[in-house]
Amino acid sequence: MNFDTGAILVLSGPSGAGKSSLIEKIKKEIEPYYFSVSTTTRPMRPGEIEGVHYHFVSEEQFKADMEADLFLEHAVVHGNYYGTSLKPVKQALAERRLVIFDIDVQGHDAVKRRMGDLTTSVFITTPNLAELERRLHSRATDSDEIIEKRIKMAKREIQRVSEFDFLLINDDLERASKHLIRIAKAARMKIPSEQISEFVRQWEEGSATFAC
Ligand code: ADP
Ligand code: 5GP
Repeated sequence: MNFDTGAILVLSGPSGAGKSSLIEKIKKEIEPYYFSVSTTTRPMRPGEIEGVHYHFVSEEQFKADMEADLFLEHAVVHGNYYGTSLKPVKQALAERRLVIFDIDVQGHDAVKRRMGDLTTSVFITTPNLAELERRLHSRATDSDEIIEKRIKMAKREIQRVSEFDFLLINDDLERASKHLIRIAKAARMKIPSEQISEFVRQWEEGSATFAC
């Protein structure tokens, strides 16, 4: 019997906490994975690439995709639309990949409801609020007004940390990466509940051959 079905790893947390930096750092260690490229209506930042960081679309296009039911989940974050396309996620799960989402707390809630115990979630944040502000300023990709919005949002998001399986404080990038690799590997080893009863049946019969 094989429990290697593919799994979902949701990464959430304040913008500027270091989610992208962590994904970049761990990606070689967690193959085979699929990083879900979200669709957004927010303007492209300097250095961002269409199809790599996001699919950048107009509000009109986003709404048409919503109508066509193309999203696994979608939300308004900081006044812009963001959504996760369903089709590539299904495909990646069928290929038994670890599907990684960088989505907000609303997205996490929706994915958990829809994908159940295939999902493992991590809330990633800085050691404190002041460090978050420092990182947002040093990233130098957003105006002061947008940074202020992100800080306000961060104060709200942190209240929902208990909804997550893990809390990861990204103080030292090296140390946090190591923790995240362990979590990603454990996420892969979770057994989907619909497979448990089949395993028990086969185990009692003596026909199960289970290897981790
Ligand atoms: P997010 O994807 O969560 O919005 P980023 O990965 O873009 O965050 O990181 C925000 C800024 O903080 C970037 O300038 C990045 O280089 C920096 N950064 C990330 N992790 C750390 C860390 N552990 N210590 C110091 N700076 C960090
Ligand atoms: P940013 O604009 O900094 O890239 O992302 C802003 C916020 O939107 C982050 O909290 C990020 O996790 C979230 N986000 C990015 N893509 C999606 C998505 O597809 N769905 C949801 N719900 N949130 C997303």
